[in-house]
Amino acid sequence: MSNSPQRLIGGVEAGGTTFRCAVAQSPQDILAETTIATRGPEETLEDVISFFAKHPSVQALGIASFGPLNLDLSDPGYGTLADTPKLDWQGYPLLRRFRERLNVPAHLDTDVVAAGMAEYQLGCARGAASLVYITVGTGIGGAYLINGQPNPGLKHAEMGHIPVARAPDDDFPGCCPFHGDCLEGMASASAIFQRWQCPPEQLPKTHPAWRLEAYYLAGLCLVLMRTLAPHAIVLGGGVLQAPGLIEQVRDEVYHGLAGYHALSPEDLKKVILKPGLAPNSGLFGSLLLAPGQERETAKQAKTVPRTAP
Ligand code: ZN
Repeated sequence: MSNSPQRLIGGVEAGGTTFRCAVAQSPQDILAETTIATRGPEETLEDVISFFAKHPSVQALGIASFGPLNLDLSDPGYGTLADTPKLDWQGYPLLRRFRERLNVPAHLDTDVVAAGMAEYQLGCARGAASLVYITVGTGIGGAYLINGQPNPGLKHAEMGHIPVARAPDDDFPGCCPFHGDCLEGMASASAIFQRWQCPPEQLPKTHPAWRLEAYYLAGLCLVLMRTLAPHAIVLGGGVLQAPGLIEQVRDEVYHGLAGYHALSPEDLKKVILKPGLAPNSGLFGSLLLAPGQERETAKQAKTVPRTAP
């Protein structure tokens, strides 16, 4: 098959619970896909390699990974996992191992950067000159993209760990192992579980958990709007699948703005968005990260007019 005329791309969405892998002609044309349970790094990698071994026409690979990641090109540790709470993955040279095993050009970025790129190029925020993609799941992560590209920083952004103003009468201590009551410690799925002794997907729509969740996520949105003023804030991840939550977040943001930002509730519907590609934003994004792929689809994105202000 190595002389096949087909030039395919591979994508890996490397998550703390599962690795999703795809082989595709383009992000919108996936030919094969699999999901692998995340275990130790080498055994997980072995299963991923077995999947791609069935598709030797893959010419380039994109990896969208949980973090934190070392993405400093000048650092010898570039492409490794940093101080993740998943101890056996700490320091693992993810990018190098994929390059060694598959012997194709590969590119690595965070899962949230990849998901943001996918929403910019193919999803709910097409052509948004600036956007923030947030995921709220076991943890909370975020990425800031300008014209669909990640904003380079000293390290990648860690929006889940911003300090937040505690809701009145909220005495939950928070569950972030580093900061206690940072945003992730107060509003991640883990925090919801610890606070209510119930997984988020089992909490009824009318449960007080959701008003509190909306309050904390609105706190993040308000910080983002006041610091970065992005054209779009895309709220993704499992917790945001709760019916009515995004509407409650917009409501809290509107009241939190207190008239200062000159944005109406209708305007906020065009700024605070649900992902258009869920639950595939990260997987599509991993395919966009494959070397050679990104520029192709970026050209397409530019042809789609942005409807939000
Ligand atoms: Zn924290």
